[in-house]
Amino acid sequence: MSANILSGFSAGLKTLTLAFVLRLCLALLLPRAAASQEPSIPGFPEIPIDATEDQVRQRVALVRAGEKLTPKAWPNRARVAVCLSFDVDNELLWRRTPLPVPLSQGEYGATTGLPRILELLDRQSVPASFYIPAMSAALDPQMIQQILRGKRHEIGVHGWMHENLPMVGDAAKEEKLLAQSIEYLTKATGKRPVGFRAPSWAFSASTLDQIQNAGFLYDSSFMAMDEPYELLSNGQDTRMIELPINWIADDYPYYEPQAAGSLPDPELVFDVYKGEFDVAYQERTMFILTMHPHVTGHRSRIAGLEKLIVYMKSKPGVWFATLDQVAEYVKAQEEQGKR
Ligand SMILES: [Zn+2]
Repeated sequence: MSANILSGFSAGLKTLTLAFVLRLCLALLLPRAAASQEPSIPGFPEIPIDATEDQVRQRVALVRAGEKLTPKAWPNRARVAVCLSFDVDNELLWRRTPLPVPLSQGEYGATTGLPRILELLDRQSVPASFYIPAMSAALDPQMIQQILRGKRHEIGVHGWMHENLPMVGDAAKEEKLLAQSIEYLTKATGKRPVGFRAPSWAFSASTLDQIQNAGFLYDSSFMAMDEPYELLSNGQDTRMIELPINWIADDYPYYEPQAAGSLPDPELVFDVYKGEFDVAYQERTMFILTMHPHVTGHRSRIAGLEKLIVYMKSKPGVWFATLDQVAEYVKAQEEQGKR
């Protein structure tokens, strides 16, 4: 072994050791840091460890899952419903720290991500649901026009300013923002939206009541099942259908900037999504994928998404639908007692 190689080896070893020590320090420090930074959310105090069973039941009762609503069969005897969905957050994700460079990362969703996604959906002739905060649409009004041009997509509510609803801390203000968002999208699309997805998937104590009063057909913010289900509020059926999401079938944990490339390979992400789809297919239920134009709209990731769509299309009996189509169908089947 030459001295060069040896010194290289020892330098490499030092780097490795340093990396290991750093990682260990982080592992030891992070949980504590995370715990101390946990925000106290207005209206949601901690459930104390000595709470009684009744008290715990009360505290979890605000929103619970009712019955499964997967119909006996999907349209045309399809085995599974597949919904591609996109939250068009763009710049608003950086509303609280609006620095120019991160804002440009969000703007990418409007300039490049969304057009690229729409081209892909056209190429593959599949529909999708887009949840757009009103202010995001206002910044780039061409987005709604581009989405509507495809004539097969749905547009749903995703807040006014991508506000975190429990942090609004004022039911009347929250209701006003909801009304404004519905009004904005109704005007811009020519159709009143029937689907709601909470910004950051966060509900306040009032959100469920408010969207029920606003007449939404479905919500898509909860995670209690892998298939459509009844949304209960304090034990009462809200008559709204939940089309659940989850963090596994979402682009954010894999690709967003803070993930720092922890799982950046679109092939690996493809494998995760494929695994979720495959079991939904076996179980004859539903697969909803949540993405963001500024995240998935990048080149290598679009290639990964196209590969997934092609794979799903290669299986017989896959119903590609918007969430409102799924909700309408589930509701109709339920009314006819066919589930
Ligand atoms: Zn969002």
